[in-house]
Amino acid sequence: MSSDRLFLNYIDGAWVPGSGSTPIADTNPADLRETIGWVTDSTTEDVAAAVQAAERAYPAWRATPVPVRGRIVRDAGRLFEQRAAEIGRVLTREEGKILAEAEGEVLKGATLMEWFSGESRRLNGQTVPSEIPNTFAYTTREPLGVVGLITPWNFPMAIPAWKIAPALVAGNTVVIKGAEQTPWVTELVVRTFIDAGVPPGVLNMVQGRGATVGAALVEHPAVHAISFTGSTEIGHLINARGAALGKRVQCELGGKNPLILLADGDVDLAVAATAKGAFGSTGQRCTATSRAIVHRAVLDEFTHKLAAAAAAVVPGNGLDPASTMGPSVDSGQFGKVHEYLQIGAAEGAELVCGGGRAAQGDLEHGLFTQPTIWHVQRTMRVAREEIFGPVLSVVAVDDFEEAIAVANAVEFGLTSSIYTRDVNTVFRYVDQIQTGMLHVNSPTIGGEAQLPFGGMKKTGIGPREHSTHAIDFFTEWKTVYIDHGGGFRGGNLY
Ligand code: ADP
Repeated sequence: MSSDRLFLNYIDGAWVPGSGSTPIADTNPADLRETIGWVTDSTTEDVAAAVQAAERAYPAWRATPVPVRGRIVRDAGRLFEQRAAEIGRVLTREEGKILAEAEGEVLKGATLMEWFSGESRRLNGQTVPSEIPNTFAYTTREPLGVVGLITPWNFPMAIPAWKIAPALVAGNTVVIKGAEQTPWVTELVVRTFIDAGVPPGVLNMVQGRGATVGAALVEHPAVHAISFTGSTEIGHLINARGAALGKRVQCELGGKNPLILLADGDVDLAVAATAKGAFGSTGQRCTATSRAIVHRAVLDEFTHKLAAAAAAVVPGNGLDPASTMGPSVDSGQFGKVHEYLQIGAAEGAELVCGGGRAAQGDLEHGLFTQPTIWHVQRTMRVAREEIFGPVLSVVAVDDFEEAIAVANAVEFGLTSSIYTRDVNTVFRYVDQIQTGMLHVNSPTIGGEAQLPFGGMKKTGIGPREHSTHAIDFFTEWKTVYIDHGGGFRGGNLY
């Protein structure tokens, strides 16, 4: 199946093609025979046009009362709820995750809209007592100006939505560049904000290649801040460039999230959480469980039960209700997963199940991988590097101290989880684990709008997303001193 549908840019309230000449194919990863459409090829000039539109729209948007901006975001949230099935189907076709996950993502995005719209009524500063007589001191917040958002394919609705919402509520105007693999979903996200009442020029979208469009957005002098979610490599590149150019940068990058199961933990719960965290969304979540660190006393039971859970996974086209796990998003990502399967085998990882492509019947046309579990040594690359596929590395340990040492022995620190019934251990874990989010007796995945989302170490740069921290990233503080005494006091002013 082929389509000549072209995914356009949205600049200054109009849908326009990019000025490049090499569109990118948008392919269904569950069936590579289906070309969904083509991503318009954009250039530095298209980015410049989008930034100029955002600059022109900025004064009026900045002057729009914050609760009025919030109401538009609220209405976008309601529209996302109404459109969850429609956007979910497109998301499944482009990204591959099963329909339930795709619709769940859209509904999740809607809850973030709900929360950020509420924040529009709380964009408060503080009144602070001054040490100078007759002086009224307070703080107030204002937007940054034009901001650039660069987003990945793995949550193509939720991540753009959760960056656009705080940026707009705070009064910024936006240029967004979504991922090449999911242009239709990015378009539907932008359309939904427009339908909710975002004025022309306030939200612009440039589709195209990362190295061209993304880089031009980072370089453009009128873009004051970049919020990026994606690979560790590109994130650190953008951060370095942003620092050189004096820009504010926020990045959410890779992970190697561990789930620890101690001898006193509930094995069945830990198995269910690991299966969901490792194989859900095909392991293509930044919060996916990619390591299980398991006490030797329960290792056999855990492995046996998890292998049964893996055997019950049904890889397949996400539009088919019988499927419980979709494909890798594209051949690049699929190739990376299979390269790691070879690396692990060469390193001596002991396979429990999976380890190869799932290609029976119609699956041969898609990028499916068998859910894979293997026992590994903590020093192996597959125990330390992000794979971003349905591959779980299990490391055996003898006690809590060893478990924490293994958990922390990676360069990432997004999320983690522990299964134990011992309250003292729980508090030691909270104190010692090096992850920005952590769960006790629940899976590594998930994140709520009102709680900070993000990681430590190489995973996170700049303020957290979600919660009031997101608003902090998109606003500038002003500290105001007003002398209402009517005379010059001199003295120790410094
Ligand atoms: P992934 O490997 O998950 O696709 P990337 O970091 O390559 O992650 O992509 C995430 C987003 O960053 C995408 O929108 C992509 O187009 C964009 N991107 C890729 N390379 C660059 C770059 N050099 N500068 C800016 N953005 C980029």
